Amino acid sequence: MGCKQKFFQKSLTTNHTNQHKPYVRYHLIFLVLLFLFLSSCERPEYSRIDVALGTVCTVTLFDQGKNSIYNDIFNRIREIENLMSIRITASDLSRVNASAGIEPVQVHEETFKVIKRAVYYAELCGGAFDPTVGTLVSLWGFNGGTPRIPSQEEINSVLPLINWRNIELYPETNSVFLTQHNMILDLGAIAKGYAVDEAARITKKAGITRAIIDLGGDIMVLGEKKDKGLWNVGLQNPDDEQGITIGYLKLSESAVVTSGVYERFFIEEGNRYHHIFQPYDGYPVNNGLLSVTIIAENAMDADALSTAAFVLGYEKGRALIESLPSAEAVFIFQDYTIQTTPGVNLVITDKSFN
Ligand code: FAD
Ligand code: MG
Repeated sequence: MGCKQKFFQKSLTTNHTNQHKPYVRYHLIFLVLLFLFLSSCERPEYSRIDVALGTVCTVTLFDQGKNSIYNDIFNRIREIENLMSIRITASDLSRVNASAGIEPVQVHEETFKVIKRAVYYAELCGGAFDPTVGTLVSLWGFNGGTPRIPSQEEINSVLPLINWRNIELYPETNSVFLTQHNMILDLGAIAKGYAVDEAARITKKAGITRAIIDLGGDIMVLGEKKDKGLWNVGLQNPDDEQGITIGYLKLSESAVVTSGVYERFFIEEGNRYHHIFQPYDGYPVNNGLLSVTIIAENAMDADALSTAAFVLGYEKGRALIESLPSAEAVFIFQDYTIQTTPGVNLVITDKSFN
């Protein structure tokens, strides 16, 4: 029973015995009004955890996060999921995939915006990031199937379908056309970041200046800590369980997104096969990197860049990040060495990494 009810219950009992009838009635009316007022002004809720986008989403609104704001944020995340999930047959994305090689499909403005951004990054990194990898992702069983190693023939049969240049965009009608039959568009590497940005937008619009938004490891920290210090954002140990960190990044308001071998994978004959693919040969990336973390102003760009830099590998990945005005990167290698771009403030606590 909540404290309000107890208070409500207690005062009813004490007043019930020693008061004249009319006074008790006024007292009761006052208490009912007080109770209704208190329950309407929403108790503060400091954090909310829920499952969406196939992952655990945690939103922490400091300074009086209200139920209604959490509801707005999680409703928004679900709206995005309903538009951009490859697993929902009625989603915009699934409708585009179902019409591959047939006709263009009109989608919602924001779906078009995310697909357009995905094509921009595919072009920027020469196709290392390529949202048409959907056939590969399902061939390897990472889109809800049973993960397995496909035969070389199977891989060869889908490689011609992986080419971002076969995505045609028609801005005047927000329509998208996949020109080859059986092409599959997959926004797994960018749409989660977009959902983080939308959650941050709603948070700011509600006037909340300090918050942490974590959608399955795609993170945005808003404002600064109560003591005006920098946020400490833990860096996942790519070779350990979720939540075990190798250290932490010290930063002010930023998006922090990591792509790595540990999110979705299976081990077969001692080899790890994960869900981030080299579009040119159809195999999971194997270039000496365990993870790439990107720090940027917005999470959608950080999300795409983390996958792009991971697929490109250290040299080209670092060159890509350093060619951009406001992005930083942390590269963690299989030999546990770490390289960062100059603007990164990283404190390593696990001394097996250096
Ligand atoms: P990232 O590196 O950010 O992305 C890896 C994902 O990108 C891969 O899973 C694949 O989808 C794709 N990809 C692989 N290689 C490349 C490449 N070279 N270029 C571009 N893209 C590539 N998961 C569930 O289990 N159930 C769900 O119902 C579900 N629904 C989702 C709905 C939405 C809208 C989104 C965005 C994701 C959903 N997911 C779901 C999670 C999704 O399946 C991916 O696993 C997740 O987005 C990967 O994010 P990441 O940060 O782990 O890895
Ligand atoms: Mg990502």
